[in-house]
Amino acid sequence: MTTITTTPRTEPSRPAPKPGFDPRLAPIIDKVDQGERLSIEDGMLLYETPDIWTLCELADRVRRRLHGDVAYYNINRHLNYSNICALSCKFCAFHRKKDQDGAYEHSVEQIREEAHKAVASGATEMHIVGGLHPWLKFDYYTTMLRTIREAAPALHIKAFTAVEIVHLAKVSKRGKQGYEGIKSVLQDLIDAGLGSLPGGGAEVFDDRVHDEVFKGKIRSTQWLDVHKAAHELGLNSNATMLYGHVDQRAERIKHMDILRRAQDIALHRIGYDIALSRDPKGSAPTNDQGYPDCIRDWPGPVVLTQPGAQLPKPDASGGYHQTIIPLPFFPDESELEHLPAPTGLENLRTLAICRLMLDNFPHVKAFWIMQTLEMAQFMLQNGADDIDGTVVWYDITKLEGPTTHQEASVADLQRAIREAGFTPVERDTLYRPVERNMQTGAWRVIS
Ligand code: SF4
Repeated sequence: MTTITTTPRTEPSRPAPKPGFDPRLAPIIDKVDQGERLSIEDGMLLYETPDIWTLCELADRVRRRLHGDVAYYNINRHLNYSNICALSCKFCAFHRKKDQDGAYEHSVEQIREEAHKAVASGATEMHIVGGLHPWLKFDYYTTMLRTIREAAPALHIKAFTAVEIVHLAKVSKRGKQGYEGIKSVLQDLIDAGLGSLPGGGAEVFDDRVHDEVFKGKIRSTQWLDVHKAAHELGLNSNATMLYGHVDQRAERIKHMDILRRAQDIALHRIGYDIALSRDPKGSAPTNDQGYPDCIRDWPGPVVLTQPGAQLPKPDASGGYHQTIIPLPFFPDESELEHLPAPTGLENLRTLAICRLMLDNFPHVKAFWIMQTLEMAQFMLQNGADDIDGTVVWYDITKLEGPTTHQEASVADLQRAIREAGFTPVERDTLYRPVERNMQTGAWRVIS
């Protein structure tokens, strides 16, 4: 195993405290300056402090340490192949039962057409998720990937949440094989064209929240197992946190802590050494904290946000989590419609805390579809470095009105990024810059 080292560099001097500065944040600022991991208690204080400006300034400092003034977008196309689902998660307004109004499933021909449209629009990525369809056979999914691969060989296919992967293990009669079953399903999908995993289905890693609003869905252990298996097979993946329904802030902080420990394991596997920490092993989880078993062999923290740390390269000898995507809950048309959606300030705070707590995630995404493009602009100044892409059709949540046509043009995305004070950089799914001929639309990845 190669060891990836870091080169300390001098940080810009700390800005003077502003009026309203919360002195309780001073030790956290010290830790961020030193590139040390924040504790659970630090995370809770960041949620409780009225001094949101210091929180956002700190998140911005870390974001600039990693990415300077670059902000990423991509040209992508989302495909929701079917909304038919065996489950009925309370927060979900997307799913339908087979004979219900609005239920659909795409044929292979429709999928091929989508792939052609993606190529015509210059997309570099197809992002595919759907419901847990009770009757589709496993070869529907491999045929879907092969069809896209054939129609659009250069398109990166990012597909299937961990929940769908576990469902596919059952559908293909490998559900009882545990971790090895998951791995063999993933390998079949990779052979058919899968390029990476999206981060959906994580929701909030807590049994109480799980049992209250998405009881039939996989628990955190299985979600983490799927991503671990994907990483071992060389795939990168993202991670989400769907918050603001019945979850408490403490449960969100626990979710972040579990994710960063899973990422420590992935980074350690690809050669990262344990990073600077005053107490690198001191806060290892124990059973009674309700942490999943799969992070028991935690090696200690790998802090990528410390000054001078190298971010992993997509060609590393194994996969890792690229991006954390905090997703605010949308109550409309769900079973939890009576609950208020999280406010803009809560969304901003949560995103900034994600940047600070998830110190080993290279990227933080303000997914404009769920945050609004206006809010995503603001979030670029408070921890986010990515706003996602052109999207086109997105059926999971609808920001405004009944239509699933939710598209931002490249000009919209670039203007939003520039207005926020950053330099727009088109990326591919693996965060490699894309060079594009604006006349012909031809593109290539700069490695
Ligand atoms: S969140 Fe996913 S698994 Fe749950 S009902 Fe909706 S589509 Fe089905």
